[in-house]
Amino acid sequence: MITVHNLRKNFGTNEVLKGIDLEVHRGEVVAVVGPSGSGKSTLLRCLNLLESPDAGTIKIGDAQISAEGKIPHSAARALRSKTAMVFQHYNLFRNRTALNNVRDSIEMRKVAHRIEATTIAQDLLRRVGITADVERQYPITLSGGQSQRVSIARALAINPEAILLDEPTSALDPELVGEVLTVIRQLAAEHTTMVIVTHEMTFASEVADRVIFMDDGQIVEQGPARNVIFNPRHPRTKQFLGSSL
Ligand code: ADP
Ligand code: MG
Repeated sequence: MITVHNLRKNFGTNEVLKGIDLEVHRGEVVAVVGPSGSGKSTLLRCLNLLESPDAGTIKIGDAQISAEGKIPHSAARALRSKTAMVFQHYNLFRNRTALNNVRDSIEMRKVAHRIEATTIAQDLLRRVGITADVERQYPITLSGGQSQRVSIARALAINPEAILLDEPTSALDPELVGEVLTVIRQLAAEHTTMVIVTHEMTFASEVADRVIFMDDGQIVEQGPARNVIFNPRHPRTKQFLGSSL
Protein backbone atom coordinates (compact mmCIF):
# COMPACT_ATOMS: atom_id res chain seq x y z
CA MET A 1 0.00 0.00 0.00
CA ILE A 2 2.97 2.27 0.71
CA THR A 3 5.97 1.87 -1.55
CA VAL A 4 9.01 4.08 -1.08
CA HIS A 5 12.00 3.80 -3.36
CA ASN A 6 15.43 5.40 -2.90
CA LEU A 7 14.12 8.20 -0.69
CA ARG A 8 16.77 10.81 0.03
CA LYS A 9 16.62 13.95 2.10
CA ASN A 10 19.37 16.42 2.97
CA PHE A 11 19.30 19.37 5.32
CA GLY A 12 22.16 21.44 3.92
CA THR A 13 25.17 19.14 3.92
CA ASN A 14 23.54 16.80 6.44
CA GLU A 15 22.38 13.66 4.60
CA VAL A 16 19.46 12.61 6.76
CA LEU A 17 17.85 9.94 4.57
CA LYS A 18 20.33 8.03 2.44
CA GLY A 19 18.16 6.07 0.04
CA ILE A 20 15.31 4.46 1.96
CA ASP A 21 13.37 1.58 0.38
CA LEU A 22 10.22 0.68 2.24
CA GLU A 23 7.03 -1.26 1.65
CA VAL A 24 4.03 -1.32 3.94
CA HIS A 25 1.14 -3.62 3.14
CA ARG A 26 -2.51 -2.85 3.74
CA GLY A 27 -3.42 -3.65 7.34
CA GLU A 28 0.20 -3.97 8.38
CA VAL A 29 1.62 -2.30 11.49
CA VAL A 30 5.25 -1.28 11.12
CA ALA A 31 7.28 0.06 14.03
CA VAL A 32 10.29 2.23 13.23
CA VAL A 33 12.93 2.26 15.95
CA GLY A 34 16.43 3.66 16.17
CA PRO A 35 18.60 6.23 17.90
CA SER A 36 17.73 9.90 18.09
CA GLY A 37 18.77 11.72 14.92
CA SER A 38 18.67 8.61 12.72
CA GLY A 39 16.00 10.13 10.45
CA LYS A 40 12.82 8.45 11.73
CA SER A 41 10.74 11.64 11.94
CA THR A 42 12.08 12.89 8.63
CA LEU A 43 11.02 9.62 7.00
CA LEU A 44 7.45 9.98 8.31
CA ARG A 45 7.37 13.67 7.41
CA CYS A 46 8.47 12.88 3.84
CA LEU A 47 5.65 10.34 3.48
CA ASN A 48 3.20 13.14 4.26
CA LEU A 49 5.26 15.73 2.32
CA LEU A 50 5.70 17.84 5.44
CA GLU A 51 9.29 17.66 4.18
CA SER A 52 9.96 17.54 0.46
CA PRO A 53 12.28 14.70 -0.50
CA ASP A 54 15.38 15.40 -2.60
CA ALA A 55 15.23 12.13 -4.50
CA GLY A 56 13.16 9.01 -4.81
CA THR A 57 9.55 8.02 -5.30
CA ILE A 58 6.66 7.60 -2.89
CA LYS A 59 3.50 5.72 -3.76
CA ILE A 60 0.59 5.45 -1.34
CA GLY A 61 -2.56 3.78 -2.61
CA ASP A 62 -3.22 5.27 -6.03
CA ALA A 63 -1.24 8.46 -5.36
CA GLN A 64 2.37 8.75 -6.41
CA ILE A 65 5.09 11.39 -6.46
CA SER A 66 8.62 11.48 -7.75
CA ALA A 67 11.10 13.90 -6.21
CA GLU A 68 12.75 14.52 -9.59
CA GLY A 69 11.57 17.90 -10.86
CA LYS A 70 8.85 19.89 -9.21
CA ILE A 71 6.05 17.86 -7.60
CA PRO A 72 2.74 18.95 -9.17
CA HIS A 73 0.37 20.51 -6.66
CA SER A 74 -2.39 18.03 -7.42
CA ALA A 75 -0.10 15.02 -6.96
CA ALA A 76 1.17 16.41 -3.64
CA ARG A 77 -2.37 16.99 -2.43
CA ALA A 78 -3.45 13.50 -3.48
CA LEU A 79 -0.50 11.92 -1.65
CA ARG A 80 -1.09 13.98 1.51
CA SER A 81 -4.72 12.91 1.63
CA LYS A 82 -3.68 9.25 1.97
CA THR A 83 -2.12 9.54 5.41
CA ALA A 84 -2.75 11.27 8.72
CA MET A 85 -0.03 12.17 11.20
CA VAL A 86 -0.12 11.85 14.97
CA PHE A 87 2.62 13.90 16.60
CA GLN A 88 4.40 13.66 19.92
CA HIS A 89 2.91 17.01 21.00
CA TYR A 90 -0.66 16.38 19.74
CA ASN A 91 -1.07 19.72 17.83
CA LEU A 92 -4.74 20.13 18.73
CA PHE A 93 -6.38 23.48 18.01
CA ARG A 94 -6.46 25.23 21.37
CA ASN A 95 -9.57 27.28 20.67
CA ARG A 96 -11.65 24.27 19.59
CA THR A 97 -13.22 21.69 21.90
CA ALA A 98 -12.14 18.06 21.66
CA LEU A 99 -15.29 17.34 19.64
CA ASN A 100 -14.71 20.26 17.28
CA ASN A 101 -11.09 19.27 16.73
CA VAL A 102 -12.34 15.97 15.32
CA ARG A 103 -15.39 17.40 13.57
CA ASP A 104 -13.34 20.04 11.73
CA SER A 105 -11.27 17.27 10.30
CA ILE A 106 -14.39 15.48 9.00
CA GLU A 107 -15.86 18.67 7.58
CA MET A 108 -12.63 19.32 5.69
CA ARG A 109 -13.39 16.19 3.70
CA LYS A 110 -16.63 17.91 2.63
CA VAL A 111 -18.42 14.58 2.49
CA ALA A 112 -20.59 14.93 5.54
CA HIS A 113 -23.30 17.34 6.62
CA ARG A 114 -22.88 19.12 9.90
CA ILE A 115 -25.10 16.86 11.98
CA GLU A 116 -23.65 13.78 10.39
CA ALA A 117 -20.12 15.08 11.04
CA THR A 118 -20.96 15.45 14.73
CA THR A 119 -22.19 11.86 14.94
CA ILE A 120 -19.14 10.51 13.13
CA ALA A 121 -16.83 12.57 15.38
CA GLN A 122 -18.59 11.33 18.53
CA ASP A 123 -18.31 7.71 17.35
CA LEU A 124 -14.59 8.17 16.76
CA LEU A 125 -14.14 9.80 20.16
CA ARG A 126 -15.91 6.91 21.88
CA ARG A 127 -13.60 4.50 20.05
CA VAL A 128 -10.62 6.19 21.68
CA GLY A 129 -12.37 6.28 25.05
CA ILE A 130 -13.34 9.98 25.15
CA THR A 131 -16.69 10.43 26.87
CA ALA A 132 -19.46 12.95 26.14
CA ASP A 133 -18.31 15.06 29.11
CA VAL A 134 -14.72 15.17 28.00
CA GLU A 135 -15.53 15.94 24.34
CA ARG A 136 -16.89 19.36 25.38
CA GLN A 137 -13.59 20.36 26.97
CA TYR A 138 -10.89 22.52 25.42
CA PRO A 139 -7.40 21.04 24.95
CA ILE A 140 -5.93 23.02 27.86
CA THR A 141 -8.11 21.09 30.33
CA LEU A 142 -7.33 17.66 28.85
CA SER A 143 -4.64 15.35 30.19
CA GLY A 144 -1.82 14.41 27.84
CA GLY A 145 -3.34 10.99 27.36
CA GLN A 146 -6.75 12.44 26.52
CA SER A 147 -5.17 14.94 24.12
CA GLN A 148 -3.29 12.21 22.32
CA ARG A 149 -6.41 10.06 22.07
CA VAL A 150 -8.33 13.03 20.59
CA SER A 151 -5.56 13.54 18.07
CA ILE A 152 -5.77 9.86 17.11
CA ALA A 153 -9.54 10.29 16.62
CA ARG A 154 -8.80 13.33 14.48
CA ALA A 155 -6.37 11.32 12.38
CA LEU A 156 -9.02 8.60 11.90
CA ALA A 157 -11.54 11.27 10.89
CA ILE A 158 -9.52 12.02 7.78
CA ASN A 159 -10.27 8.43 6.79
CA PRO A 160 -6.68 7.89 5.66
CA GLU A 161 -5.21 4.79 4.08
CA ALA A 162 -2.53 4.81 6.78
CA ILE A 163 -1.81 6.56 10.06
CA LEU A 164 1.72 7.77 10.74
CA LEU A 165 2.50 8.12 14.45
CA ASP A 166 5.68 9.88 15.53
CA GLU A 167 6.55 8.90 19.11
CA PRO A 168 2.91 9.19 20.20
CA THR A 169 3.69 8.45 23.86
CA SER A 170 7.04 10.19 24.33
CA ALA A 171 5.61 13.40 25.75
CA LEU A 172 3.29 11.65 28.22
CA ASP A 173 3.69 11.10 31.93
CA PRO A 174 4.40 7.40 32.48
CA GLU A 175 0.98 6.68 34.00
CA LEU A 176 -0.74 8.03 30.85
CA VAL A 177 1.27 5.99 28.33
CA GLY A 178 -0.87 2.88 28.78
CA GLU A 179 -4.18 4.45 27.76
CA VAL A 180 -2.70 5.65 24.45
CA LEU A 181 -0.98 2.33 23.75
CA THR A 182 -4.30 0.58 24.41
CA VAL A 183 -5.97 2.66 21.70
CA ILE A 184 -3.16 1.96 19.23
CA ARG A 185 -3.32 -1.75 20.09
CA GLN A 186 -7.05 -1.71 19.38
CA LEU A 187 -6.50 -0.02 15.99
CA ALA A 188 -3.88 -2.64 15.16
CA ALA A 189 -6.36 -5.40 16.02
CA GLU A 190 -8.78 -3.77 13.56
CA HIS A 191 -6.02 -3.92 10.90
CA THR A 192 -5.51 -0.20 10.59
CA THR A 193 -2.40 0.37 8.51
CA MET A 194 0.09 2.18 10.75
CA VAL A 195 3.70 3.26 10.75
CA ILE A 196 4.73 4.02 14.33
CA VAL A 197 7.99 5.58 15.42
CA THR A 198 8.41 4.47 19.02
CA HIS A 199 10.83 3.83 21.85
CA GLU A 200 8.39 1.42 23.51
CA MET A 201 10.14 -1.81 22.56
CA THR A 202 7.84 -4.19 24.43
CA PHE A 203 4.83 -2.52 22.84
CA ALA A 204 6.45 -2.69 19.38
CA SER A 205 7.20 -6.39 19.84
CA GLU A 206 3.56 -7.07 20.73
CA VAL A 207 1.72 -4.83 18.30
CA ALA A 208 3.89 -4.43 15.20
CA ASP A 209 3.95 -7.00 12.43
CA ARG A 210 7.35 -5.74 11.40
CA VAL A 211 10.08 -3.68 13.02
CA ILE A 212 12.46 -1.48 11.08
CA PHE A 213 15.69 -0.41 12.75
CA MET A 214 17.11 2.82 11.36
CA ASP A 215 20.54 4.25 11.97
CA ASP A 216 22.25 7.18 10.32
CA GLY A 217 19.63 7.67 7.59
CA GLN A 218 19.45 4.03 6.54
CA ILE A 219 17.41 0.96 7.30
CA VAL A 220 19.96 -1.31 8.95
CA GLU A 221 17.70 -4.26 9.75
CA GLN A 222 14.05 -5.19 9.46
CA GLY A 223 11.91 -8.23 10.02
CA PRO A 224 9.15 -9.76 12.12
CA ALA A 225 8.82 -7.67 15.28
CA ARG A 226 9.87 -10.31 17.78
CA ASN A 227 12.89 -11.38 15.74
CA VAL A 228 14.28 -7.87 15.41
CA ILE A 229 13.61 -6.89 19.02
CA PHE A 230 14.52 -10.08 20.85
CA ASN A 231 16.99 -11.58 18.40
CA PRO A 232 18.61 -8.79 16.38
CA ARG A 233 21.31 -9.77 13.90
CA HIS A 234 23.11 -6.57 13.07
CA PRO A 235 25.70 -5.39 15.64
CA ARG A 236 24.29 -1.85 15.56
CA THR A 237 20.77 -3.12 16.31
CA LYS A 238 22.12 -5.30 19.15
CA GLN A 239 23.93 -2.35 20.62
CA PHE A 240 20.89 -0.06 20.40
CA LEU A 241 18.43 -2.60 21.78
CA GLY A 242 20.86 -3.65 24.47
CA SER A 243 20.61 -0.16 25.90
CA SER A 244 16.85 0.30 25.45
CA LEU A 245 15.29 -2.99 26.58
P1 ADP B 1 14.85 11.13 14.61
O1 ADP B 1 13.38 11.36 14.45
O2 ADP B 1 15.29 9.74 14.25
O3 ADP B 1 15.36 11.54 15.96
P2 ADP B 1 15.07 13.30 12.72
O4 ADP B 1 14.46 12.81 11.46
O5 ADP B 1 14.27 14.21 13.56
O6 ADP B 1 15.61 12.06 13.56
O7 ADP B 1 16.42 14.05 12.40
C1 ADP B 1 17.44 13.49 11.62
C2 ADP B 1 18.51 14.53 11.38
O8 ADP B 1 17.97 15.58 10.59
C3 ADP B 1 19.07 15.17 12.64
O9 ADP B 1 20.45 15.36 12.43
C4 ADP B 1 18.34 16.49 12.69
O10 ADP B 1 19.13 17.46 13.34
C5 ADP B 1 18.15 16.83 11.23
N1 ADP B 1 16.95 17.63 10.98
C6 ADP B 1 15.68 17.22 11.15
N2 ADP B 1 14.82 18.20 10.80
C7 ADP B 1 15.56 19.23 10.36
C8 ADP B 1 15.25 20.54 9.85
N3 ADP B 1 13.99 20.95 9.69
N4 ADP B 1 16.29 21.33 9.53
C9 ADP B 1 17.57 20.92 9.65
N5 ADP B 1 17.93 19.71 10.13
C10 ADP B 1 16.94 18.87 10.48
MG1 MG C 1 11.96 12.02 15.81
